[in-house]
Amino acid sequence: MSIVDGDRSFHAYLCQALDRLSPSDRAYFFKAAIQAILRVDSNSGVVQGVAADGRDIRVIRLTRRTAFFSVTWLAGVLVHEACHVIEPRQSLPVGSGGERKDMASLSRARIAEENQCLARQLEALESMAAPATELTHLRGQDGSHALTSPALQDW
Ligand SMILES: [Zn+2]
Repeated sequence: MSIVDGDRSFHAYLCQALDRLSPSDRAYFFKAAIQAILRVDSNSGVVQGVAADGRDIRVIRLTRRTAFFSVTWLAGVLVHEACHVIEPRQSLPVGSGGERKDMASLSRARIAEENQCLARQLEALESMAAPATELTHLRGQDGSHALTSPALQDW
């Protein structure tokens, strides 16, 4: 895994976040085999797929707000993004002929995946005894966030 950012504090913060995770949550994160973590200006989230040359792409992008809100928040986000890699559902609903995806079922799958990853993130935050404000914020999410523009997904 490589960390791409000019800022040394980002690297230190990531190390602290990984240290805060329980051993099982840390193992879960590493199971996702993330190749890089980037500090970006917009579009937080995980990018995954297969590149034109056949290599796997598994990269977590983090905006400043996501990266530096708190160590526990960052740790929870790492587990959340790992969940998207380990337990994807978005590719499941394909039309019967395989020719066209049913957009409604694709949206349902995206929300279901998002809710699953929110639940996994909440478990990680609870096991770290994260601040109540973070737990409350997370419990208030309904997964519809997954359907918004990536540019709005900064937290
Ligand atoms: Zn998500």
